[in-house]
Amino acid sequence: MTATRIEGKAVAAEVIEKVKAATADLAAKTGVTPGIAVVIVGEDPASQVYVRSKGRMAEECGFKSVTHRLDASTSDTDLLALVGTLNADASIHGILVQLPLPGHIDEGKVIQAIAPEKDVDGFHFINVGKLGTGELDSAFVPCTPAGSMLLIERALGKRDLSGLNAVVIGRSNIVGKPMANLLLAANATVTIAHSRTRDLPALARTADILVAAVGRPRMVTADFVKPGACVIDVGINRIPAPEKGEGATRLVGDVDFDACVEVAGSITPVPGGVGPMTIAMLMANTLAGACRAAGAQPPVL
Ligand code: NDP
Repeated sequence: MTATRIEGKAVAAEVIEKVKAATADLAAKTGVTPGIAVVIVGEDPASQVYVRSKGRMAEECGFKSVTHRLDASTSDTDLLALVGTLNADASIHGILVQLPLPGHIDEGKVIQAIAPEKDVDGFHFINVGKLGTGELDSAFVPCTPAGSMLLIERALGKRDLSGLNAVVIGRSNIVGKPMANLLLAANATVTIAHSRTRDLPALARTADILVAAVGRPRMVTADFVKPGACVIDVGINRIPAPEKGEGATRLVGDVDFDACVEVAGSITPVPGGVGPMTIAMLMANTLAGACRAAGAQPPVL
């Protein structure tokens, strides 16, 4: 058996089209244009790439997009002052502070300073609590698990996961835990595994839905996968690729795709699976923030 590839790129493109249409509609009906502010501190090259692509995508969606580039030596007082200004700016509906921040800045303090109704990353305690208590209509859900959830719904052709077992490998605050909460809210029976879990392959094999968010290249092998399972690979790992030339690298996930594709029912590739969904969901969250501010209904994705 060969699994169906879950084409994240195509689903992400579909989400962006819905966001564009709803943005135009919102502007026509209420005069409100969604606004996103991205704040980056320092010169981390990967973060610079992410921030540029977020800005480009926001413009493509028809948003107002502003990027604040701050020097690596910026104090947390100055960063908090900027967050305060953006919180008070009615034309901004989403604030994203690109992580990681330089070591001298207290990341937690900055995240908690963002107004919860503009926290499009979904990291503020208010949004974490809303997700945990099932208040999904007014929460911002972190973009990567939200995007992964949409891929699961598309792959299985349903939103209600009653009767299905889900195993999430990884318990981080940005992926594993919110992913588990989303699956639970959709009525799946959820187990969270991590580095202290005993006999992980056997546990993983109980999963109808297996999500890997670990950060270990191709750790999930075929013996982790129940025949026919839906496998979502969140991992992004850069490994050496000598076949592409000296010093070259390539991206792989946490799942050994070539082996697991023979066992799973559906599976995300890396790249082209969960990755493109993250930025699409950021746009969807920003639009939702603008809709809520304008008293309008965000589109169903
Ligand atoms: P973290 O490092 O924060 O968490 C990794 C989790 O994996 C931890 O809970 C850890 O357990 C668990 N773990 C580590 N080793 C093992 C093991 N041998 N067996 C079982 N569990 C293990 O990572 P993130 O959640 O931030 O990211 C996970 C992956 O997803 C990374 O590859 C990252 O690059 C990628 N990612 C991709 C995104 C995208 O847009 N597609 C966005 C965000 C992340 P413990 O808690 O016990 O230490």
